[in-house]
Amino acid sequence: MNTIQQNLLKEIEVRKAAEAQKDDFIAMVSHELKTPLTSLKGYLQLLIMHADNLSKTETITYLDTANRQANKLNSLVNDLLDISKIENGKLKFNLRNFNFQQLLVNTIRMMKLVNTNCNIILNGSVDTEIEADEMRIEQVLINYLSNALKYSPKNHDITVDAEQSANFVKVTVTDKGIGIPPEMHHKLFDKFFRVDAPGHFQGMGIGLYICAEIIKRHGGTYGVSSVPGSGSSFYFTLPLQKQA
Ligand code: ADP
Repeated sequence: MNTIQQNLLKEIEVRKAAEAQKDDFIAMVSHELKTPLTSLKGYLQLLIMHADNLSKTETITYLDTANRQANKLNSLVNDLLDISKIENGKLKFNLRNFNFQQLLVNTIRMMKLVNTNCNIILNGSVDTEIEADEMRIEQVLINYLSNALKYSPKNHDITVDAEQSANFVKVTVTDKGIGIPPEMHHKLFDKFFRVDAPGHFQGMGIGLYICAEIIKRHGGTYGVSSVPGSGSSFYFTLPLQKQA
């Protein structure tokens, strides 16, 4: 085989791999969207079929569950839109000053309201103004906290440590969940990376990738320490001075 033929063969292989990756992605996204959609449809069906016989409490419970599934769908679609924005260089930030401690307290309160079975403790305080995109920083914190809950099926005790140094604020979310093998730590923030953990955890492997992009673009850092079977700590830092 001559060089031209070899190059052609290589190009065909690269294209085939890209096609396979795209097919895998479509299958994964369809599966992730279908799960909450099926559940949402099921509860709406139930409400329609038994509308006359349901008690007020039952109606509220079913509506609440349907609403949660709709929220899940919404957040999956938002993640997909974010990925597309990142790929196209269109992820823009809306910078303004806000109190960092207030953001921590409000986000934790909201997480506790939505996940009534979790126990989130906030240690430390960062009572300072920072200039950043508040919604996007909240998104990172929610992502860390949601993962901490999702990957800790047996223990919902989570701690959030907040620290401030001369130039940075640092937030660390620690869980007592399944943990992650050390050889995978460096891949966790990569696009589509998921640990093939025993048990069944749903996900698309894009949440941490989006977090990394948001933090990087704000001039911050991120990372993880984790012991399989004991739990994980995910942190991010943000500069006190505007960078994004
Ligand atoms: P997803 O959770 O949707 O798969 P993420 O990008 O948020 O995607 O996380 C990537 C992977 O990192 C997850 O699939 C999971 O294997 C691992 N992971 C993230 N957070 C935790 C955690 N707190 N404990 C254990 N594993 C985690």
